[in-house]
Amino acid sequence: MLFEALSVIPEVFSPYLETSIMGRALRSGVFEFRAYDLRDWTHDRHRTVDDAPFGGGPGMLMKPAPIFEALDDIGSKGPRPHVVFFSPCGTRFDQRAAERLADKERVLCVCGRYEGIDERVYTLADDVFSIGDYVLTGGELAALVVIDSVVRLLPGALGDEASSVDESFSQDSGLLEYAQYTRPSSYRGMDVPEVLLSGDHGRVAQWRRENAIERTARWRPDLLESARLDPNERARARELMLEGEGD
Ligand code: SAM
Repeated sequence: MLFEALSVIPEVFSPYLETSIMGRALRSGVFEFRAYDLRDWTHDRHRTVDDAPFGGGPGMLMKPAPIFEALDDIGSKGPRPHVVFFSPCGTRFDQRAAERLADKERVLCVCGRYEGIDERVYTLADDVFSIGDYVLTGGELAALVVIDSVVRLLPGALGDEASSVDESFSQDSGLLEYAQYTRPSSYRGMDVPEVLLSGDHGRVAQWRRENAIERTARWRPDLLESARLDPNERARARELMLEGEGD
């Protein structure tokens, strides 16, 4: 899979993408990455990519021409890229969206800066994603969030293939992940639940399932609606939510 990013600060991507799990996935060919400097598609001496907004208001906006021209050029080489823009006004990026992008051959991330982008540029977008209800200075962090979450779904990206299956938001359950512990079994007076030390895989699986439901009810009750629960689990989840409301 090829990821590309168009940005006025293309140098910010490599330090992250060439390190740790992303770096290993990049070196072993799980994905490829190319960053482009938007200023390469400007035609003036100052390589200007921004201008004042019509109608007034603070700050500057990204001009349409450099982005249109860059996408024409980049898109004309190779298979058509799936074009992703970032904005606090976009649809919320989530695990389903990551799974959907993981099926694409080529994803081109267009990173906004300043007060945002001329609205006409969004006609080029296949997706516009927000990574949360807060405002960042630019789309580069959002692009890295998207790339990281997609790459770890690609075959060969993680050491243990099962690691991305059993996680929070996974399609299997739609629940948050259960609590996990490692050695020592007792630390500063806090003991690991006995069942996890029992070696009884059936009981461990049961405990994890219940724990995932409890954690989801407590921290993300909004997820329970679409979670895959049997009738008993759904009743238990409702009980937990009512208890939570009483707190
Ligand atoms: N004026 C815009 C608004 O109020 O919606 C915010 C522009 S922001 C300062 C500049 C750029 O950062 C955006 O064009 C977008 O690419 C990126 N950005 C900021 N917050 C983001 C978020 N929550 N999710 C995704 N991208 C974001």
